[in-house]
Amino acid sequence: MNAFEIENLNLWYGEHHALHDICINIPANQVTALIGPSGCGKSTFLKVLNRMQDLVEGVRIEGKVMFGDQDIYAPKTDVDQLRTRVGMVFQKANPFPMSIYDNIAYGPRVHGIKKKDELDAIVEESLKGAALWDEVKDRLKRSALGLSGGQQQRLCIARALAVKPEVLLMDESTSALDPISTGQIEDLVGVLKRDYTVIMVTHNMQQAVRVSDYAAFFLLGDLVEFAKTDDLFNRPLDKRTADYVSGRFG
Ligand code: ADP
Ligand code: MG
Repeated sequence: MNAFEIENLNLWYGEHHALHDICINIPANQVTALIGPSGCGKSTFLKVLNRMQDLVEGVRIEGKVMFGDQDIYAPKTDVDQLRTRVGMVFQKANPFPMSIYDNIAYGPRVHGIKKKDELDAIVEESLKGAALWDEVKDRLKRSALGLSGGQQQRLCIARALAVKPEVLLMDESTSALDPISTGQIEDLVGVLKRDYTVIMVTHNMQQAVRVSDYAAFFLLGDLVEFAKTDDLFNRPLDKRTADYVSGRFG
C-alpha cells in the first residue's frame, strides 16, 4: 500500500524551479529517507506533503499529490485536517514555552478534547510512543524548556503523535543532537513505522542506511533514484547515485 502517489510534481519559488517532474509512490508503514546534498529540494518536497509549502509566498505547484484517495491540492481539501493526518517534526526542537503536559495536550485541546482523564491518557500514550514517558512522568507540570535537546526533540515527536497522525514527516530531526540522543530517535523511528508512515530527510547517509527501508536520492531538484535502501546504496542504477553514495560529492 502506498501512503502517497505523486505524479509530475513541479514546484517554483518565484522564477526558481526547485522540483522537476517528481514521480514517486511512497509506501505506507515504512521508513523512507530523502537524501542528497544541501539545496536539492528535500525539505521542499517534504513540505509539499502536508501543504506547509503553502505558507511560503510566491510558491507555485503543479502536478498531482495523492494521499490515499485524497488529492491534497484539490480546492476542497481541508488543510488543517490534512496537517493533523500528516504531522511534522522539524530540524530544531521547538517546544512551546509551557509545561510538558500542555505541549502534548495542545493539539488535542485545539481539536476540542477537554476532559482531564481523556487528555491524561493521550499525554501518557504519546509520551510512551515517543519513548519519553519514563524520563518525564514525575515532572509533567514543569516547563518543557527545561528538557535536554534530545528530550525536547522526542517531546516534539510526542506532540505530533498526540493528534493521531498517519504520517510523520521529519526534516533532519537529529542533526542538532548528540550521538546518544540521535540513537534514541533512530530506534524510535524503527518502532514508529509499525503504526505510522515515516518520511525523513537526512544528509547523514549512515543514518539512512541504519533507519530507512526505502531511499530517494534528490539532486538539484530532480529525483534521481528511488529504491529499497539496500539497493540504492549497494546496487544503484544511476551513475549520479553511485557517485553520491560512494562519497564522491555531497
Ligand atoms: P534541501 O532541503 O535539499 O537542502 P531545500 O528544499 O531547502 O533543499 O531548497 C531547494 C532549493 O529551493 C534551494 O535552491 C533553495 O535555495 C530554494 N528555496 C528553499 N526555500 C525557499 C524559499 N522559501 N524561497 C525561495 N527559495 C527557496
Ligand atoms: Mg533541507
